[in-house]
Amino acid sequence: MATRQPRRAPRTPGERFAVLDPATGEGFAQVPDQQPEELDAVVARAHEAWRSWRADPVARATALRAAADAVAAAGPDLAPLLTREQGKPLAESQAEVARTAARLRYFAELTPGPQPLDDGRPVRSEVRWRSLGPVAAIVPWNFPLQLASAKFAPALAAGNTMVLKPSPHTPLATRLLGSVVSTALPEGVLTVVTGQEPLGARLARHPGIRHVTFTGSVPTGRAVAVGAAASLTRATLELGGNDAAVLLADVDVERIADRLFWAAFRNCGQVCMAVKRVYVPARLHGDVVEALAQRAKTVVVGAGLDPDTQLGPVNNAPQLARVEHYTARALADGARAAAGGHRLDRPGYFHAPTILTDVPPDSPVVTQEQFGPVLPVLPYGHLDEAVAAANDTGFGLGGSVWGTDLDLAEAVAERLECGTAWINHHAELSLAQPFAGTKDSGVGVAGGPWGLYGNLRPFVVHRPEGP
Ligand code: NAD
Repeated sequence: MATRQPRRAPRTPGERFAVLDPATGEGFAQVPDQQPEELDAVVARAHEAWRSWRADPVARATALRAAADAVAAAGPDLAPLLTREQGKPLAESQAEVARTAARLRYFAELTPGPQPLDDGRPVRSEVRWRSLGPVAAIVPWNFPLQLASAKFAPALAAGNTMVLKPSPHTPLATRLLGSVVSTALPEGVLTVVTGQEPLGARLARHPGIRHVTFTGSVPTGRAVAVGAAASLTRATLELGGNDAAVLLADVDVERIADRLFWAAFRNCGQVCMAVKRVYVPARLHGDVVEALAQRAKTVVVGAGLDPDTQLGPVNNAPQLARVEHYTARALADGARAAAGGHRLDRPGYFHAPTILTDVPPDSPVVTQEQFGPVLPVLPYGHLDEAVAAANDTGFGLGGSVWGTDLDLAEAVAERLECGTAWINHHAELSLAQPFAGTKDSGVGVAGGPWGLYGNLRPFVVHRPEGP
């Protein structure tokens, strides 16, 4: 996804900026517009806090367990606030809060122990893992709490401290999360900073930062990597995706249609590893288009706080413009909308759930990351064509194969060039798995023990057997 123009939010003399409700397009809260100059003091505090935080893994685990309890208890405050600023249905916000607490609990139990080395020499050699220092985390607006916790849970469990910057589109729930988690932590261990660019750029290149962990678009990820390189800082980048779903000839269309639909449309399609393209055997193409279009036409679109809502608005105006642009371009190039095809004529950033057919394979809605409620469905002749098309992209985040013969599905999944592949579902991640993209989708590994070690450095001691 291209970096969009900076948010044109109204600024007030007290250096605050407005947060908009995507269901109305109206501002409903203000947050501090912190300036890059403030980072020096914040990072210095994170260094100070690191001295004692790194020293005691047992105390850390206890604090992280308490933080998880505090997050779960704050769910009734966190979830509606998240929905208000992000747009997703309340049940999805509640699930996001639960996942945030679960991730804290998971990492509280992961402690890196010493590892003996044996190369046959008469020396007792051991790797002991050391924390890095203050880690900077920069996250996007689609899963503000989950992605924040994907940064701070492993980083803090490893003994680091953190300065976390949410997207200016969704700073509120993250600020609240930061204060909730901090009730269980010593001062300075986790600090949330809010502000507009160049705050993130300056954080990424701050010389006091020892690791930058970024989630967002490919162009911003490149800029972050360049900034981190200036300070020779380790950078972990979790970037965009353009995941393909490949349907096999024996797929049971009615059986998978709900799952496939929601794999593409959950969170209004604003998921890095949503299904963003579907490849279907030509014989089944009409059935699949019809099954998906029927769901797109009947799903309840509305404000996330409305209990009937199944699909919320797009999060922000530039993103809505992008979705509209890709859709209009595809239609102009000869595609047909089997459902939707336009934004909704109502206040807020609503776009009709859209199923596109007859899409030219080189249309940007196929080749780029649309990141919205629009799904192209493409026919294929031979399975090899589908695999080649799925892999014909600069992205490499996830992919899925759908069919009845699980052995064939797994053999096809093996051929997908991505970090995670699913069979008969998509985008369901385990806390214990390594999460990594290939190609432009990322650098470094998050998740599971790999995520912990991504926040540590090896320190090796060689000791002879005798004096
Ligand atoms: P974005 O790249 O525009 O912004 C991400 C974050 O970077 C925000 O906090 C933003 O304020 C900040 N930022 C902007 N310019 C910066 C700069 N020059 N230096 C440092 N920070 C800067 O992304 P977005 O639109 O907020 O999020 C959507 C993108 O995130 C999509 O591409 C999506 O695929 C990706 N994403 C990836 C994952 C993953 O795990 N791979 C997960 C969720 C989202």
